[in-house]
Amino acid sequence: MDYSTYLKNYPSKDGRFGRFGGAYLPDYLMAAMEEINNAYLTICHSSQFVSELRRIRKEFQGRPTPVYHCEKLSRKIGDGRCQIYLKREDLNHTGAHKLNHCMGEGLLAKFLGKKRIIAETGAGQHGVALATAAAFFGLECTIYMGAVDVAKQAPNVARMKILGTNVVSVEDGQKTLKEAVDAAFADYVENYKETIYCIGSVVGPHPFPMMVRDFQMVVGEEAREQFQEMMGFLPDVVTACVGGGSNSIGLFVPFLNDPVEIVGVEPMGRGEKLGDNAASMTYGEEGVMHGFNSIMLKDENGEPAPVYSIASGLDYQSVGPEHAFLREVGRVKYDVASDRDAVDAFFKLSRYEGIIPALESSHALAYAMRRAKVGDVGSILVNLSGRGDKDVDYVIEKYGYGEEFKDFD
Ligand SMILES: *Cc1c(COP(=O)(O)O)cnc(C)c1O
Repeated sequence: MDYSTYLKNYPSKDGRFGRFGGAYLPDYLMAAMEEINNAYLTICHSSQFVSELRRIRKEFQGRPTPVYHCEKLSRKIGDGRCQIYLKREDLNHTGAHKLNHCMGEGLLAKFLGKKRIIAETGAGQHGVALATAAAFFGLECTIYMGAVDVAKQAPNVARMKILGTNVVSVEDGQKTLKEAVDAAFADYVENYKETIYCIGSVVGPHPFPMMVRDFQMVVGEEAREQFQEMMGFLPDVVTACVGGGSNSIGLFVPFLNDPVEIVGVEPMGRGEKLGDNAASMTYGEEGVMHGFNSIMLKDENGEPAPVYSIASGLDYQSVGPEHAFLREVGRVKYDVASDRDAVDAFFKLSRYEGIIPALESSHALAYAMRRAKVGDVGSILVNLSGRGDKDVDYVIEKYGYGEEFKDFD
């Protein structure tokens, strides 16, 4: 495949990445998607929108975020044959990559004259990012969150409320991300005339996977240039964790046309059994959920299966359609990291580099550390999608202060 023209061809006009993606919705919602799509294609490419977004990224978000060389960590692993680098999205305002697409979506809502933005959230990071965008743009905001996540992520719930957002705790089913998506969708069906649904990842019906990808590509574009400038060459491997797939696709796409190995890392949770992980690329099959066709974990009745990971932000049954496509054409590989691997990486980065990573990002770092130990490549760039302050209480409750993760074996 010719990746130099990739962005022109993917997605297609009807939102397809190969046979993945599309928009599976009732007719009256198709009209709303058309409106968003047309607005996106015209407004978001206007020079006024582009320059306003550029200004916001610089002055409000603090971009560009740096690329950082983990010298001490790298030296400890496999005799330092492989060097690990981080793209520091944890330093993005609000502490994760999600603000990248939320500010884009908020600006689009503003340009369209909408009064209200809504969304679902898992770890609470998307909720905080969108609540931040709502406050910045002066928009009303409602966030749906599974009751389990509300309990697990109290500080993020508090932040959303302080920012002036209405947080709705969803008590249905597993009470996690999937139910929150369903509830947010139901709200959108009722209120789509004055509301924009701001999806939290590269999932959902067209045009969301495209829009969110385009807003997140700033990560890969910056990282590619920064790494090249710092080292004089490109990394051998780039890697990122995959929940819905937004931080990863944002990093990956700008490297598609380069001789760089690309690896997405999914959560293996506490084991291989259905319900014990959220490794949709490893165990999932093709199916339609939440308005798009992709790979997903199904139960025995073909319904979205329960999923689990220590990182709530990775708890999602499916994966963005572009990932399903990029794996099928053989350009991107997908691997896994368990809860334990992630916690090990969480403590090691904290102790050896002074950076406490989000448990989500720790999955990608765990893969990089495993690969560095094998030592078959010279450099790995990891997207550190978020900071770990939100995870600190949960980690010490379950693992103490990480004595057992202190040493390298
Ligand atoms: C939400 C989140 C993720 C997972 O979402 P993607 O869409 O797969 O990027 C990863 N890391 C952090 C810190 C998050 O908040």
